[in-house]
Amino acid sequence: MDMMRFSTRAIHAGDREDETGAVTVPIYQVSTFRQKEPGVEGEYVYGRTGNPTRAALETALASLEEGEYGLAFSSGMAATTTLALSLLNHGDHVLAVHDLYGGTRRFFDRIMHNFGISFAYVGGTTSGVFENAIRPETRIVWVETPTNPLLQVIDIGMVAKLAHNHDALLVVDNTFASPYLQEPLKLGADIVVHSTTKYLGGHSDLVGGAVVLSNASLYEKVRFAQNAAGAVPGPFDCWLVLRGIKTLPVRMDRHSANALKLAEYLSAHPKVDAVLYPGLASHPHHSLARKQMNGFGGMVSFYLKGDFQACKRLLKHVRIFTVAESLGGVESLIEHPSSMTHASVPKDERERIGVTESLLRLSVGIEDVDDLVTDLSQALEKV
Ligand SMILES: *Cc1c(COP(=O)(O)O)cnc(C)c1O
Repeated sequence: MDMMRFSTRAIHAGDREDETGAVTVPIYQVSTFRQKEPGVEGEYVYGRTGNPTRAALETALASLEEGEYGLAFSSGMAATTTLALSLLNHGDHVLAVHDLYGGTRRFFDRIMHNFGISFAYVGGTTSGVFENAIRPETRIVWVETPTNPLLQVIDIGMVAKLAHNHDALLVVDNTFASPYLQEPLKLGADIVVHSTTKYLGGHSDLVGGAVVLSNASLYEKVRFAQNAAGAVPGPFDCWLVLRGIKTLPVRMDRHSANALKLAEYLSAHPKVDAVLYPGLASHPHHSLARKQMNGFGGMVSFYLKGDFQACKRLLKHVRIFTVAESLGGVESLIEHPSSMTHASVPKDERERIGVTESLLRLSVGIEDVDDLVTDLSQALEKV
């Protein structure tokens, strides 16, 4: 399986033979497993500790990220929580990027902070800004790339080197790119985190998370915490993620193609101030994105010429795009970060980092792109 290319692994990694000859992995909807004699355990004992459907998903996740070990969780935040609980101790410091997923930042500042762990957030993507903020007690450098919602691209290899020079681990939240478009472990990251709710699941019908890594002793720690803390996904949700993964490559190609067309369309629109999409040659990190990614993904942000009222009018008139948080599904979504996904970030900070009231974010789906252009076009006319 390791020798095979990505699209083949997406369909077959995690396959297991059973006595029925089932072609796909069944849903083992079961909480406990028979023991041959008291204390003589089989491969599976209890559903929190392990389940065959979950094991298949964990194998597939590891294979897609080209890591040794995969772990599945009940949400992206459960993956992050379990990782933080397993790796951080009182007195440790975490260095993260500024436009981090809002829920991750809320968990760090409002919960982990109470356990004596401190956090610093850097704006900017150069090695200098990371170098200046890293401390002797920094245990983890935590980045997302492309970032949310500003779609900046961070050089994973550069940050990995910097983290390792300071004896810190690099964690990359690879949710926005998906393993099809970006492989952080190959670029030097120690740990990859995912919200499988997004592109890996791909159909807006489940909430899940994942961790992939290659270091055996770190894996033992996280596996222990996965079972001890217990934020595990149910068998049916694992099966849904496995099913989503099979079409990840074809979906991501279509998401990326549609997003580029919409980004180009919006760039030329008189009512649009600026478009943020790493696939545009005008994007400040375009050449890095070309080098680091195998495509530019389905997320596009743009500044409307106008205020919150203008954005509201646009959102009111879209017909194919759905106004909703989240991303990564086959259907197109549109949202207003400053009043929706990023409302919990204080206003002055939002404005400082560029999440203004004129900013809108698209999760471009895999519908016919001409219909998506027509939809945005008619909605922009009403603005
Ligand atoms: C959604 C998301 C998360 C959190 O995942 P949940 O599945 O909602 O818990 C973490 N990081 C990123 C980048 C996300 O988009």
